[in-house]
Amino acid sequence: MSTPPPLAGGTAGPDALRPLLDVVLDALRSGAVARGGPFPPGGPETLGTAVRETVTPVIPAEGRGAEEALRTLVEAVAHGAADPADPRCAAHLHAPPLALAVAADLAASALNPSLDSWDQAPAASALEAETARALAAEVYPDAARPDALVTTGGTEGNQLALLLARERHGAALTVVCGTHTHHSVRRAAWLLGLPEPVTVPAPAGTTDLAALDATLARLRGGPVLVTATAGTTDTGRIDPLPAIAGLCERYGAELHVDAAYGGTLLFSPRHRDLLRGIDRARSTVLDLHKMGWQPVAAGLLAVPDSALLAPLAHTADYLNADDDTEAGLPDLLGRSLRTTRRPDILKIAVTLRALGRGGLAELADRTLTAAHDLADLVEKTPALELHARPVLSTVLFRPRGAADATVARVRRSLLHDGSAVLGRARADGRLWLKATLLNPHTAPGDLETLIALVEGSSAR
Ligand SMILES: *Cc1c(COP(=O)(O)O)cnc(C)c1O
Repeated sequence: MSTPPPLAGGTAGPDALRPLLDVVLDALRSGAVARGGPFPPGGPETLGTAVRETVTPVIPAEGRGAEEALRTLVEAVAHGAADPADPRCAAHLHAPPLALAVAADLAASALNPSLDSWDQAPAASALEAETARALAAEVYPDAARPDALVTTGGTEGNQLALLLARERHGAALTVVCGTHTHHSVRRAAWLLGLPEPVTVPAPAGTTDLAALDATLARLRGGPVLVTATAGTTDTGRIDPLPAIAGLCERYGAELHVDAAYGGTLLFSPRHRDLLRGIDRARSTVLDLHKMGWQPVAAGLLAVPDSALLAPLAHTADYLNADDDTEAGLPDLLGRSLRTTRRPDILKIAVTLRALGRGGLAELADRTLTAAHDLADLVEKTPALELHARPVLSTVLFRPRGAADATVARVRRSLLHDGSAVLGRARADGRLWLKATLLNPHTAPGDLETLIALVEGSSAR
């Protein structure tokens, strides 16, 4: 019998990890060098074959050892990665994670606290409680007992928001959303057995207020949850939150704000006003693996009063027996619908402390500036058409006069070449290329390269 592989924890863990980390870091570097750009060229067939050849046999009869396995597979995945740290990788709300947050995530993995019971995570659970409350207080500065649940992202946050509303009002709850609302709201209603949401038009990319007014007048009397969006996925627009909150108050409806994208602006004195009215929502989604530069996952659902989270209370004798809770052991099971749960709060707390309010504001301001720079460049390029000036960090543009099919082809051809990763969005009845700029290191020269690539590809 050989000795089992070393563990990551305890006093010996760091020494076992250090040489393996050297292997991982070298493989990350050589993978990135081999790729040489934002995306691996060749398309799904070529890339699938390359991975298949590398990983076969997936389960060898005799192990190849830690170094070989780490080197081979980390390098393969890095070589074939869509790398959001490259300024030309700008399709989605796919953030380039900060090195300091990734380093913190390593500690989270090594310690492996699980946030379903206090005896698995005594310090991590206390850190989560403090940090979640501090973040919720950013959304709800005047609230007496703001609190937040840590989620896997906006999807889980929207689900929990709808679940909490359903528990307050029963299964006859009507969810009102816009045509621009994230698809996860509709799926959450489906999952929770709620009626199909009532959809309000959003012809200019944000909720049409007259239509919302008419809808709420029609639904008056029954329980209603209106979802507004602070940073739409397609265009980065922000709903008129004060006006929507006003309508909700007038008709006795509740408001939920999905700020998965725009929430970070709370830290920016320059842009904070864009989120005015957010504190009138009964719940708010934040997603720090978007404009928060965290590795996945780093979501939150903030509420103005921790009592609003009471419906999630749940007992399982092995995790939070009543007598343990009465004796003072914190009860964590009501903090999530998950059971075993990673301490995603550690990287978030490290980031908040390392950068402070000012550091986060500067990162947000930089990405918004990059979006304005890109919009300027598009406007100066006769062969391209700009959809609109950006609000957050999303810029929609297209080759002037092109058919939708050409726009789609340009995107796929840049992907196939591995030269740029752009998204797509439909707006005003036409298809656009979408650049979602989340990289605070993006410089004007990078944007010029991006524009030149699109011009070159659309001329082909
Ligand atoms: C990304 C996004 C979501 C979903 O968040 P995940 O972290 O992907 O689950 C929800 N709402 C909006 C507005 C988003 O942009």
